[in-house]
Amino acid sequence: MSTTNLFWFTQDLRLDDNLALHAASHCDQLLLVYCLDPSEFKPNRYGVQGMSQHRLRFLYEGLIDLDKQLQPLGQTLLICMGNPVEVISSLIHQHKVSHVYTSDSVGNYERKRWKTLTQRHQDVDFTRVNTTRLFELDQLPFSLENLPASFSGFRKRVEDLPINAPCPRITHLPPLVTRNHSWPVTLDRPESDDSSPFVGGETAALEHLKDYFSSQAPQTYKETRNALDTWDHSTKFSPWLAQGSLSVRQTLHALRQHEATYGANDSTYWIYFELLWREYFHFNALKLGSQLFKFSGIKQSKPLTSFYPQRFRSWCEGNTPSAAVNACMKQLNATGYMSNRGRQWVASYLVNEMRIDWRYGAAYFEQQLLDYDVASNWGNWQYLGGVGADPRGQRHFNLSKQVQMYDPNGEFIKRWGGESKVTHLDTVDAADWPIMRH
Ligand SMILES: Cc1cc2nc3c(=O)[nH]c(=O)nc-3n(C[C@H](O)[C@H](O)[C@H](O)COP(=O)(O)OP(=O)(O)OC[C@H]3O[C@@H](n4cnc5c(N)ncnc54)[C@H](O)[C@@H]3O)c2cc1C
Repeated sequence: MSTTNLFWFTQDLRLDDNLALHAASHCDQLLLVYCLDPSEFKPNRYGVQGMSQHRLRFLYEGLIDLDKQLQPLGQTLLICMGNPVEVISSLIHQHKVSHVYTSDSVGNYERKRWKTLTQRHQDVDFTRVNTTRLFELDQLPFSLENLPASFSGFRKRVEDLPINAPCPRITHLPPLVTRNHSWPVTLDRPESDDSSPFVGGETAALEHLKDYFSSQAPQTYKETRNALDTWDHSTKFSPWLAQGSLSVRQTLHALRQHEATYGANDSTYWIYFELLWREYFHFNALKLGSQLFKFSGIKQSKPLTSFYPQRFRSWCEGNTPSAAVNACMKQLNATGYMSNRGRQWVASYLVNEMRIDWRYGAAYFEQQLLDYDVASNWGNWQYLGGVGADPRGQRHFNLSKQVQMYDPNGEFIKRWGGESKVTHLDTVDAADWPIMRH
């Protein structure tokens, strides 16, 4: 009897180093599916929708690029709009699928969805394969429950572990379920800025990887990584890593090749160091489950913050009394990207100056960031919210000092129009009356 497998693409839109897709391709017929969940476009409990136009544009480019690469292999990507559990379930029935494969996700919601599917189809085999992390879970010298409480503790115990080489690119795939069935790619190109340097998809990802590591930028990464607004001050791999059009093992492999050609130094080591942060947050998310999204995080006490709609709106729009925060938020809204330094500033300002519940900031970042990654975003926000895996407890940035260090001539603030006439956090009082100032 012929076997039909289904591969569910998620954060792994690539043919290079895709172990999960390799595993799925041992069958007679193969269905390749991506589900776009309409709930991403409705307001969530924080009043913001899951995905901005920038993110949708980047995803769209990633999907179209993937489909293009599948065509010469005699395959097509089926892009479905709908609740993923319902979509996959109906495809299982329709095509008598015997085995479903996907990449392992650390997100709590994604893991729940997968569990529901497996419970619903007990006669079908389900396999998840790690394609998003450097390390396998069973490779760690500690159990997930005993994940070190700090990043330093984690790094020291894992940084010398062996890491599997990227697996070869997929060059053959079994045919589509029904050869004469044409799967429509139904997604229309979203309206968005075409001039973004971040173009979704594996083709652009590999080009960027090659460009970056054949330049001298990695040699000075440690000194430049904190800059606010230049292309090669940091690697800019994050959007492609989040989309999975680039794998973290490929990235590390390219880093090692760069070191072999140009030499290893503190800066090249620091790129690995930052990738380990990503790794730490991924295991942290896996360990915490739904606790990653809790107001009190992993701490016992709740922060002394609340929700102020007008303050939150002014933060989102970049219309606060802080020119630095405004510039960063305007950069985010215009491009879908913000430097790591900028993210720390605006998060610290939201929590410590505006006294807003950190989860609103995390939700807004989720909507806007091209590199949105559930583990890195919510994990970093817990840190900044003072409720995360941070031995220092609270990260309160002195913005005047920071601006003197990182934008001494005010060029960044000027470029993004950070200066505003707003002088106070509130323009209305608790009863929504305008505050008169004399
Ligand atoms: C509040 C807040 C929210 C964040 N949300 C996200 C997010 O949703 N997605 C995301 O990828 N990063 C997030 N980060 C981490 C970091 O800001 C970005 O990874 C980085 O700015 C991306 O630019 P880059 O690729 O040039 O980074 P580089 O400095 O070149 O670093 C190389 C890679 O290391 C990883 N990395 C670096 N710093 C971190 C970090 N602190 N945590 C996790 N991984 C890291 C990323 O994969 C990055 O691409 C967040 C940081 C903060 C403070």
